[in-house]
Amino acid sequence: MLYGYTGRITIVDLSSRSFKTIDLNEHIAKLYIGGKGLSNYILYNYGIWDYEPYTPGNLLVFASGPLGGTRIPMASRAWSAFRSPLTSILGGSNLGGSLAAYMKFSGIDALVVKGSSSDPLYLIVEGGSVEFRSASHLWGLDAIETEEILQRDHGRDTAILAIGPAGENLVRFASINHDRWRQFGRTGGGAVMGSKRLKAIVFKAVDKIVNIAYPDKFDEYLKDLTKKLLPDPTTKALREGGTPRLVEIANRIGFFPSYYWSKVRVDGWENIEWSSMKKSYFIKAGACLYCSVACHRLVESRKFNVRVDIEYETIFALGGNIGIVDPDWIIVFNDLADRLGMDSISLGNVIGFAIDLSRRGLIDYKISWGEPEKVRELIVNIAYRRGKLGEILAEGVALASKILGAEDLAVHVKGLEPAAYDPRTLRGMALGYSIAGRGADHLGTMAYAIDIAGRAGGRLSLAEEKVKTIVEYENLGALMDSLLLCKFGRYIYNFQNMTEVLNIITGWNYTPEQLVETAERIVTLTRFINSKMGVDKSKDQLPKKFYEPVEFEGKEYKLTIEEVEGALNTYYKMRGWDEKGVPTQERIKKLSINESKIISI
Ligand code: SF4
Repeated sequence: MLYGYTGRITIVDLSSRSFKTIDLNEHIAKLYIGGKGLSNYILYNYGIWDYEPYTPGNLLVFASGPLGGTRIPMASRAWSAFRSPLTSILGGSNLGGSLAAYMKFSGIDALVVKGSSSDPLYLIVEGGSVEFRSASHLWGLDAIETEEILQRDHGRDTAILAIGPAGENLVRFASINHDRWRQFGRTGGGAVMGSKRLKAIVFKAVDKIVNIAYPDKFDEYLKDLTKKLLPDPTTKALREGGTPRLVEIANRIGFFPSYYWSKVRVDGWENIEWSSMKKSYFIKAGACLYCSVACHRLVESRKFNVRVDIEYETIFALGGNIGIVDPDWIIVFNDLADRLGMDSISLGNVIGFAIDLSRRGLIDYKISWGEPEKVRELIVNIAYRRGKLGEILAEGVALASKILGAEDLAVHVKGLEPAAYDPRTLRGMALGYSIAGRGADHLGTMAYAIDIAGRAGGRLSLAEEKVKTIVEYENLGALMDSLLLCKFGRYIYNFQNMTEVLNIITGWNYTPEQLVETAERIVTLTRFINSKMGVDKSKDQLPKKFYEPVEFEGKEYKLTIEEVEGALNTYYKMRGWDEKGVPTQERIKKLSINESKIISI
C-alpha cells in the first residue's frame, strides 16, 4: 500500500469518451511527491512540447499530494498543469478550497485529461471511475452559476471545477473556478478546458479516509503543529487582515504597481487599504478546507449588491494599476472576473495596458485612469471577445502588443503578466520574474517575501546573498507546491518539519537533504521541459518598462540591465545550468531526471 496516496491516476480521453486508471508508481511518487512535481513529470513523460496549447493533444493534469485530505494545517492546495495558451510554455496554477482533499476522497491522486469533445461535456469522478455527461445546458453560464447547478444536482459532498464564458471563448488567461471564489487563475487553464469543450468536473467523495503509515504519531504531530501555527505572527497577521492587509504596506513602502507600472503608489490608496475597507465592506473571514488560518476576506458592496472574497492581487490589478481606488467598483470587477472566469492579475494588466495605449493615442478607444464604467464594459467585451479591442485584449498583453505594434510598452515575461510587486523597489522580484517557470510569476520564488522582510542585503539588493536566498525559497516553494502546502505557510514549514510530516504519513525515510534534492529536481525538470519549448536566457528578459526609473517620495529607483544579468548568471551557476540557462546533462543525470517513460498516456 502507498500510504498518503490513493495510488491511482485516472486518464480521460474526451475524444473517445473513455478512461483508464493506472497505478501510481511508488518510485515516481518518491521522486516527484505530487502536485507540481508529479504533474510536471507526467507532462515531461508525455512530451508536452510536441503539442500546441489548443490541440486535442494538450494535456490538462490536476493533482493532489500526499498531505491532501489528512487535516495537516494549510495542506489545502491543489495543482493543475498544461501547455499554456498564454505563454506557449509550461502552464500551471495552484488553488485553495477543497479540491486537494476531494480528489483523494473521489479515489485518485491525479486526473489527466486529453483529447477534445465535439459537444460540451462535464465529468463526474467517483471511486476512480469517470462518467461523461452532456453540458449543453451549462454552456454559456457563468462559472458560479455552473457550480451552483452541479452542486444542486450532485450534492454538497463534492468539489467542483468549472469554467465561465471566457474559457469557452478561449480568452488566453481564462481561469478554472472552484468553491465560488477560488481559481486555478494563472496561465490560462480555463481556455485549455474550453478548447476541449469541457465545462466542468465534479469530484464526488466515496471514502474520506487517507491511509497514514503511523496514525498515532500523526495525531500527536498534528496537535503540535496546530499549537505552533496559531501564535505565529505571520499567520496571525493573515488571520486578522487576509492578503488585503498588504495594500497598506505596499503603498507605504512603495511597491504597489499603479497606473500600469508607472508609479509605485496609487493616489487615494487609503480608500482601499484593509482597515478602511474593513469598516464598510467586510462580512466575514473564510478558509480553505482544514485550514485554521482563515485568510479569506468576504466583502460586500451594498451599492451594487455584490459579494466576493477579495485578495491583495485583485486590489492591485483591478484597482491601483488601472487608477481605481473605489472599493465598490473593485468588488464589481472582482465579481465579473470570477463569474466570467478570468485571472484577475492578467485581466487588470491587459486593461492597464489598453488605458496606457489609449492615453498615448495608440488605439482607437478612449479610456483613461479611473473610469469604472468603461472598465466594466471592457471586462465583458474581453470575456466574450466582443468588438475589435475585446478580441485583441483577450489574447493577453504579449500577443495584443504584437498585434497593436506596441511591444516596447508591454509588461510581461514570457507572455505572463506580473503580479503586484514592482521589481524596481523590490529587487529580488527582478530575478523572480525573470526565471520563474511560468513567466512573470511571484509565487515560484516568493522573492517578494525576502525583499519585503529586508532580508539578504535588503530590498534593493540583487547581489549573491539575495540570489542564494531566492534559490532556497524557490526550493521551498517547489516542495510546498508538490506536497501542496499553502505558500502562506512558508514561515511555519521548513525542510525539517516537511520531512517529518511526509515520513509519518508515507512511512518513507526521507532526510531533509534528500527533500532539498527533490525540490531541486522539480525546479530543474520544469526548466528542462521549458527549454524544449525554446526557453533559455534570451527569454529570461524583463520588459523595457522595468528598466525605466520610477520615482517614490522624491527618490529615483532604477534597475540596471547589468545587475539583472549578473543575478541571472549567478542563479544559473547555483542551479547547475549552463551559461544559456539550460540544465546541463550532468545536472539532469545527477537529479535522476532522465528516467524512462513510466506512465503511459
Ligand atoms: S492560509 Fe488562506 S489560502 Fe492558505 S490554505 Fe489557509 S485559508 Fe487557504
